[in-house]
Amino acid sequence: MSRRPVIAGNWKMHKLQSESAELANAVMKELKEIDKALLPEVVIAPVFTSLYAVNKALTDCGCGKVKMAAQNAYFETQGAFTGEVSVEMVKDAGAEYVIIGHSERRQYFGETDEMINKKAKKILELGLVPIICCGETLEQREAGVTDSHIASQIKAALSGLSEAEVAKSIIAYEPIWAIGTGKTCDADEANRVIAMIRGVVKEIAGASAADSIRILYGGSVKPNTIVEQMSKSDIDGALVGGASLTADSFAAIVKGAM
Ligand code: PEP
Repeated sequence: MSRRPVIAGNWKMHKLQSESAELANAVMKELKEIDKALLPEVVIAPVFTSLYAVNKALTDCGCGKVKMAAQNAYFETQGAFTGEVSVEMVKDAGAEYVIIGHSERRQYFGETDEMINKKAKKILELGLVPIICCGETLEQREAGVTDSHIASQIKAALSGLSEAEVAKSIIAYEPIWAIGTGKTCDADEANRVIAMIRGVVKEIAGASAADSIRILYGGSVKPNTIVEQMSKSDIDGALVGGASLTADSFAAIVKGAM
């Protein structure tokens, strides 16, 4: 089974509306000459306040080469949840994907496995694609519990989803010690962990879902790391933080993944 690669840029808490639209336009300009059929699925994730502006830039271009994700969304539809934004709301703003369970949200905002599972269900119910993040701390890696920790994150996140829903989802394996540190996980080791994750998916949702689900690597991905990472059997793309904040480096990663 050949899985379409995904390159997703997580802009984190960066950029005002005008800057976000400018970056979206610059990314599209960099990809202008490339035939859409040859491109990976390219996704950019601006802050909530820039979703409208980025969606407008992407729609005005009409090239359909770049899709938009929200960096988070709440599982309740509406109500007394001050400060939260629902999946319906990010969908209304043009998002087709939602990143959930990023380690920064788990660490700083108390996002739990149970919340991530509720979010995944809601995102899929509304026809969007969850990008479910998982990953171990350096302490967990050194204690030899990487695989068991990640397996438990994945089992919790996918609990109660149908085979079709699992197949449509995207997982991002992001070792926390590699995020924003410049320390990329060795490509063979990232591939080993991702193959292990695929095994967990097979256990819970069957071989076909495990074959279809895209599993990305994230953690200091750069234009000079992507080619080796993409050469590995189980790595289906990348979730990119820092290097997605300039159009030339993000586009170089997209091109490197082709
Ligand atoms: C991320 O935040 O998901 C990430 C992988 O960041 P960076 O590429 O900067 O390590």
